[in-house]
Amino acid sequence: MTSSNTQPASSRRPDLLVIGAGPAGAATAIRAARGGASVLVFDKAEYGRDKVCGDGLTPRAIGALNDLSIDITDAHHISGLRMIAGKKERELPWPTTARFPAHGAVWPRRRLDAALIDAANEAGADVRWGQEALPLLEGEKVVGVTAGGKEYRAPLTVVACGAQGQVAKMLGAERVKDEPFGLAIRTYAESPRHDDPYLEACLTLKDEDGTAIPGYGWMFPAGDGTVNIGVGALSTMKNFKKLNLNKLIESYRSLVEPSWQLGPNLERPRAWRLPMSAQKRHGPGWAAIGDAAGLINPMNGEGIDYGLESGMLIADLFLDNPATATAIYDKEVGVRFDSFLRTGRRFSFLIGHPFILRNGLRVAVGTSAVAKITLGVMGNLVDSETPGAAGRVLRVADKALETADPLLRRTRA
Ligand SMILES: Cc1cc2nc3c(=O)[nH]c(=O)nc-3n(C[C@H](O)[C@H](O)[C@H](O)COP(=O)(O)OP(=O)(O)OC[C@H]3O[C@@H](n4cnc5c(N)ncnc54)[C@H](O)[C@@H]3O)c2cc1C
Repeated sequence: MTSSNTQPASSRRPDLLVIGAGPAGAATAIRAARGGASVLVFDKAEYGRDKVCGDGLTPRAIGALNDLSIDITDAHHISGLRMIAGKKERELPWPTTARFPAHGAVWPRRRLDAALIDAANEAGADVRWGQEALPLLEGEKVVGVTAGGKEYRAPLTVVACGAQGQVAKMLGAERVKDEPFGLAIRTYAESPRHDDPYLEACLTLKDEDGTAIPGYGWMFPAGDGTVNIGVGALSTMKNFKKLNLNKLIESYRSLVEPSWQLGPNLERPRAWRLPMSAQKRHGPGWAAIGDAAGLINPMNGEGIDYGLESGMLIADLFLDNPATATAIYDKEVGVRFDSFLRTGRRFSFLIGHPFILRNGLRVAVGTSAVAKITLGVMGNLVDSETPGAAGRVLRVADKALETADPLLRRTRA
């Protein structure tokens, strides 16, 4: 973006409005403000808000935090993933790749999100807390937002408000009805293993009737005396609407309690949605990023990395040329994520069938070679550009699932 304006960015009319100060919105604000844009961010919550999350950062997320020059010494360093399927257990370090660092982290969201938004503030972004913002529409075009009874206008409004709600409804950017989504619940407890260097994922969850659940239970050690305990499930499972997440987390907790020597829950378990599709992610005057654009990996429920990446992308394109930013953004997000996420959504219909799920999981963790591919998928390290076995498997799986997809959807559990 070229501007002859000599006023400090914060006192000018905003170039960019951001709705939502989570990781995605903060990434946009940091990048755009550092590039000289005047940025105004709104969040309906107060500063220091928590977000229901597993707090796990994949190596891909660490790469994005490095790109934003965020100091991550406050986070608990994670070396790899322990996968458990029934009695099988396999512990694998994150792979070394040319694209991403070889470590992840657990960083409780209250602290991660504060570090990100503080960096946006330091870069000159103006953050208004406790203000719900809604798009200001003139016909089809978003010309700004209304917040706190006032109108704010800018050439671009970035929608970073998480799982789709009122804002998405106004823009026609809700999730695609026939596509899957996830629900997950988490709490914290003290554990002597709080500084375990591995994430733990139990892939063989069962509901109270013993039905296999497409999803997983996690123990994510936070390194601060506590572990984040949670379970998540995909909407493709049989009787999803009847699934009781509170019971599921309780039964998972009792399963892991002996080996983690857990103290009582430190807070009431809380659940939230994981959006995995969006009808639209841009339009005249606006672009959606992170969860608001449905950017969550259906195979592991992780979205912080995609939120950070999409947030940086729209900021860079806006700085480059505000007139073309949203259309190019949509295309580039498509190239980066669409085919992988489509494979993930198809995969979620596949594992919605309990028979396939039970037998597939034995294979997923059964041999070291296949477990490495599972690790890549669970770590958001694989996409259609990935070289080597994992990338090849993904491309083959995409082709096979494309053929099977209509049948899998018709026969969904
Ligand atoms: C239980 C659970 C566990 C998860 N575990 C992981 C994990 O371990 N690792 C991982 O990578 N991902 C995980 N995810 C997904 C991850 O939480 C999201 O992908 C991530 O938070 C997306 O960031 P975001 O900035 O797009 O949205 P959010 O973090 O949801 O931020 C949106 C912000 O917008 C604000 N907002 C909403 N509407 C408005 C409005 N109208 N006006 C103003 N402000 C508004 C909200 O207050 C909020 O602060 C998990 C999700 C769940 C539910």
